[in-house]
Amino acid sequence: MTASLKEERYKSSQWKAVRERVLWDFPVCAYCEYVAQSNPSTQVDHITKASEHDGDFYDLDNLVGCCGSCHSKKTSYELHGVRHATVKGWGKHFFNKWRDKVKGL
Ligand SMILES: [Zn+2]
Repeated sequence: MTASLKEERYKSSQWKAVRERVLWDFPVCAYCEYVAQSNPSTQVDHITKASEHDGDFYDLDNLVGCCGSCHSKKTSYELHGVRHATVKGWGKHFFNKWRDKVKGL
């Protein structure tokens, strides 16, 4: 799949409907709670990277709402090769990183 096709999917009416649904289902960031925070969801995250997920791009089972900060952290972890198939798996990763930081203070 080319980059431009991927971009197109985010503009599709199907994605817009799915995005609304996910933000409705997850009004609060799915990852923040693992680092003792709570922020409103403003973005929709593919738990398993869309390009590596067996199911559909629009598969609700692979989508959660999250805040911009967690989304960019998670994208950065993924760029470094971290993979988790569940929110809980990612939550533990976020927690461990957060705990290391807190211990270092
Ligand atoms: Zn968050």
